Amino acid sequence: QITTAQLTAWVTECARLINVHADALNDLDATAGDADHGSNLERGFTAVMAIGLLDQLDSPRELLKHVGSTIVDVVGGSSGALYGTFFLRMAVTSGPNGVLDAAGFAELLRAGGQGIVDRGSAQVGDKTLYDSLAPAITALDQALAAGDTLARALISASAAADSGRDGTVALAARKGRASYLGDRTIGYADAGATSMALIIRAAMTTLG
Ligand code: ADP
Ligand code: MG
Ligand code: MG
Repeated sequence: QITTAQLTAWVTECARLINVHADALNDLDATAGDADHGSNLERGFTAVMAIGLLDQLDSPRELLKHVGSTIVDVVGGSSGALYGTFFLRMAVTSGPNGVLDAAGFAELLRAGGQGIVDRGSAQVGDKTLYDSLAPAITALDQALAAGDTLARALISASAAADSGRDGTVALAARKGRASYLGDRTIGYADAGATSMALIIRAAMTTLG
């Protein structure tokens, strides 16, 4: 079972990791865009945490809705709409008073990924945050189907996200601002794929 308190710990860890890596994410975005990806997400997660009463959001749906709507409100750029949709889609999928089990969390993650595709129409290989999310979703499903515990399945998911991120180094960007630079983005990991791998890593350390 995944409690709302654990989801709150996930979000808190996301905020911490984004804060720690904000400069590195800006540097990656500088190779392909406008050097603001770390600052954008840091502003978003800081606002998410600023509520002070985060642990009074007492269902997965309420918590995830707070995260998604805050990110939509305070983060500009592509990532605001995309990450906002990711969390909002997880919220509506989680049901009004849902208790989450491992399969339920996998379903949420899949729904969040579908939200990103609906919103930005990225495919795997376009050098976006979906390049680390999609393999993580697949790995999580496969590990759970094979009978792994959630903890083990999330280790697999995080490893898959990291290699998806690393795979973006060799790719040319085809979506968003980075697509204007095209082949000149080859040689650097995508900033969004890198932040998404942190989001999945945070799930591994808090939800397993
Ligand atoms: P902006 O490009 O508006 O400055 P950010 O820098 O915060 O926004 O986010 C850039 C990241 O957004 C990229 O690294 C990429 O991963 C992601 N991204 C951009 N467009 C799309 C899209 N259509 N689908 C999925 N991800 C996208
Ligand atoms: Mg940017
Ligand atoms: Mg920008």
